[in-house]
Amino acid sequence: MIQLHNIDKHFGSQHVLKDVSLHVPPGQVTALIGPSGSGKSTLLRCINLLETPSAGQITLGDASLQFGHGHAQPGRQDMHRLRLQTGMVFQNFQLFPHRTALENVMEGLLVVKKWPRAQAEARARELLQQVGMAHKADAWPGTLSGGQQQRVAIARALAQSPGLLLCDEPTSALDPELASEVVAVLRQLAANKMTMLIATHDLRLAATLADTVVFLEDGRIVEQGSSRQLFLHPQNPRTASYVSTLK
Ligand code: ADP
Ligand code: MG
Repeated sequence: MIQLHNIDKHFGSQHVLKDVSLHVPPGQVTALIGPSGSGKSTLLRCINLLETPSAGQITLGDASLQFGHGHAQPGRQDMHRLRLQTGMVFQNFQLFPHRTALENVMEGLLVVKKWPRAQAEARARELLQQVGMAHKADAWPGTLSGGQQQRVAIARALAQSPGLLLCDEPTSALDPELASEVVAVLRQLAANKMTMLIATHDLRLAATLADTVVFLEDGRIVEQGSSRQLFLHPQNPRTASYVSTLK
């Protein structure tokens, strides 16, 4: 169960997310599309609490947090519980540069989950295998291609078995060839029923990967629907205009 209710986010006087309500269907891929500056990254960052929503409610699994007027700031434990249920993949990978691929994937298991080293390593190797990076376990991030770094970052995000994988422009920093190896990994996760929310301005990626597509503009959800409906039969003229560039 992943549900956002009436999320607002202000940065100073700037109103960046406006009454965003969203249900992310479990076991499916939801794409968040919209022009640059529409609030896609901020929405993902609010879901895993890298940003604190100004108002609204987030329900993720058995954690449900309320923000804003009339609500006490959620406690650290509740925030921690919600965070543990999400994994995040960033546009620019954000691997720890002074740790090997394997150590990057193990880090959260050791530090956050306090797993014994041998168990963390076994799990990390399994995840590297899953993203086709087992052969680079001992490589430094700086020696890997962008596509390889992103695949390690995906393995790292999966390490804590999150119920929801958040991906912020996962292929935008990559050349088409390297992007396609990352897309292949995302596609495989989708086939395995991983619940994913992917922010992207790449309409082709959204159209080919997502079950549900959400169009965000100026901090508001303009339209959401099945990928087919949103791209082929958009109901809102703004959506129609935005997705028309795909054809
Ligand atoms: P998108 O990912 O769709 O391009 P963002 O969520 O990055 O959009 O940004 C939405 C708006 O919020 C932009 O106007 C951006 O400048 C602003 N914004 C994002 N993060 C911050 C921040 N930390 N402080 C102030 N303004 C921000
Ligand atoms: Mg963004």
